[in-house]
Amino acid sequence: MRKTEDTFLHKGLRNKLVELLKTKSITDQNVLDAIGAIPRHFFLDSAFDKIAYEDRAFPIDADQTISQPYTVAYQTQLLKIKKGDKVLEIGTGSMYQTAILAAMGAHVYTIERQQALALKTGQFKQIFGNVFPEVHFFYGDGFLGIPQQAPFDKIIITAAAPTVPEKLWEQLKFKGIMVIPVDESDGAQRMLRLTKKKDGLAKRESFEEFSFVPMLEGKAVKK
Ligand code: SAH
Repeated sequence: MRKTEDTFLHKGLRNKLVELLKTKSITDQNVLDAIGAIPRHFFLDSAFDKIAYEDRAFPIDADQTISQPYTVAYQTQLLKIKKGDKVLEIGTGSMYQTAILAAMGAHVYTIERQQALALKTGQFKQIFGNVFPEVHFFYGDGFLGIPQQAPFDKIIITAAAPTVPEKLWEQLKFKGIMVIPVDESDGAQRMLRLTKKKDGLAKRESFEEFSFVPMLEGKAVKK
């Protein structure tokens, strides 16, 4: 990410994006406020400056993507974020989703397996460190979660998971919520919201189909 100007043009485009998301089933005002507040162009290469507020995914380093704003808003809305929630995010990527969660008052613990992306997290601290001190970055395998920091109120997976990772489920609080896109047989992912019941089993709710980059095991090996 990069610190650059946030002009009236950017703000205008951001407001239009918020209006668009309202027409696409995003109703949580806190989510809309966060999308309206966070300059998405900071999280993209300067080549994307003028199109950063289109409702599209874009490429970032290490052949990964910044999720589409609709997807970010959709997952965040399903999480029902409350101020002070301790949230585990798998797939730091561009850090845009991380910033949206932080803007809603969540304490975020986020893991990335690509070193090139993990190395950029210092930039987030430089730019947003004072505003969002409760964001913690980890370089490692998201399948393992962060046992030292468990349990979490909420867990969000931002890559396509083959199944619900057992270790992550263990790190979710009772009554906690996990939002996870799980592979279906046709190559797309089904967005699931799993709420942990008292007996440890999941209340399972199924939502729309999305398309994510894959959740892969281990740290990425350098090419
Ligand atoms: N939340 C990000 C989405 C990035 S795409 C954003 O808003 O930009 C998904 C990310 O998940 C990629 O950066 C990918 O490297 C990462 N990822 C995939 N499998 C992972 C794993 N096992 N542990 C941690 N990160 C993983």
